[in-house]
Amino acid sequence: MTYIQDAINRGKISGNGHYTHLCQDFFEKRYGFQKCLLTTSCTDALEMAAILLDIQPGDEVIMPAFTYVSTANAFVLRGAKIVFVDSKSDHPNMDETRIEELITPNTKAIVVVHYAGKACEMDAIMEIAERHDLFLVEDAAQAIDSFDGEKPLGGIGHLGCFSFHETKNIQCGEGGMLTINDPQFIQRAEIIWEKGTDRAAFFRGEKNKYGWVDIGSSFLPSELNAAYLWAQLENLDSIQERRKTIWEDYYHFFIHSDREASILQSTYLNQFQEVLEQESLWDSIHVPAIQSSSNAHAFYLVFDSQASRTRFIEGMLAKGILCIFHYQNLQNSEYYQSISSDQRPLPNADKYADCLVRLPLFYELGK
Ligand SMILES: *Cc1c(COP(=O)(O)O)cnc(C)c1O
Repeated sequence: MTYIQDAINRGKISGNGHYTHLCQDFFEKRYGFQKCLLTTSCTDALEMAAILLDIQPGDEVIMPAFTYVSTANAFVLRGAKIVFVDSKSDHPNMDETRIEELITPNTKAIVVVHYAGKACEMDAIMEIAERHDLFLVEDAAQAIDSFDGEKPLGGIGHLGCFSFHETKNIQCGEGGMLTINDPQFIQRAEIIWEKGTDRAAFFRGEKNKYGWVDIGSSFLPSELNAAYLWAQLENLDSIQERRKTIWEDYYHFFIHSDREASILQSTYLNQFQEVLEQESLWDSIHVPAIQSSSNAHAFYLVFDSQASRTRFIEGMLAKGILCIFHYQNLQNSEYYQSISSDQRPLPNADKYADCLVRLPLFYELGK
């Protein structure tokens, strides 16, 4: 509230002001991202990426089928043909061994999605992108403060896209960010960000007037959103710590190691125990060993069938606990089927679409 009031007192609540700069500088310093631009959403950051890569009708873009619609829509809006890759058998992330067979002379880019903040196999994927001279975009919507070894996610591909939607670790209601890791894109990114004008350069005093120089749109968030985001960033470490604690509590409970102790300490976890016992579902659960790695974005279970998952969700709902599933296999979606005849089997994407469930994980969740 203090920062939002301050933004108002400063008399400038449109974009690219004091709090926008504080947030962008924070990310550039903390993670070493070359250039960051706040956007109104990750969807917008992805749309900026598609414009920056100069995607043209007929260009092909390879991405996982198990992802949010925005990953695909941003490129469909530029006329691209989307080519979906299956997930790995042991993780929803894209199967890097199935990418190369999909590359054609029309392929322009690969988009990776770090599901639940877990890094895709970036060394292998970067090697493929380099060998075929393709652009690499990271949909890092779920991957804030997550790493592949030493490298921060969103800082590896040519461009990275983050989300600060309220369902993400760090949020401001609706918000996002584009990271530009290849300097050749920096100047044009600022122009596209500011509606296709060189306004950013003008306000830095580099130009004595500004005008229409390229295509673009209004991708800047208001200072009110940036002020909210800044308060979150100041508390990033404590937010992450809290999420990791919750994540670990779930993990110990579900991998059996500490189930009795978990139930005794937590009436909340005891509700899960009751539903899983009552529905005889313990043997239907697979708890992936590698989940969200460093950033505790999500804790999820994979059931052995859609029917088991439904029984679990309904049992939990009866106890007032909302467990959700989300992505469909986008290749099977109504819209994609209307624009493409692609029917390649993607069994792992189907499995995660049908059988994965996410458990509640948010800062305020107590024991
Ligand atoms: C949340 C999410 C998005 C969309 O983010 P918005 O900020 O709501 O536009 C895109 N891709 C993935 C993988 C997401 O999880």
